[in-house]
Amino acid sequence: MKTPKEALDALNERDFVKDNCIEELAIFQLLVDKATPIKPEILKACFQQEEPYKLLYKKGRCNCGSTVWSAHNNFCPKCGQALDWEK
Ligand SMILES: [Zn+2]
Repeated sequence: MKTPKEALDALNERDFVKDNCIEELAIFQLLVDKATPIKPEILKACFQQEEPYKLLYKKGRCNCGSTVWSAHNNFCPKCGQALDWEK
């Protein structure tokens, strides 16, 4: 099965769709962008106070400027952007 991005790319390759569905493609592009995880700017990483000093959570900033916490969500609660907290 195609990913949403692959489906959008396939639609963009069809001249009829590209020429007649400009607004719909822009909406689809927005959804694909929101669903494609971005790495938030990491502001702080909080670790356990004792051994083994495991990472508890990261505090970051989404592209929209909202503060986000890895312990709480993989999506920005403000704009819905998917977030990738991996290194
Ligand atoms: Zn956001």
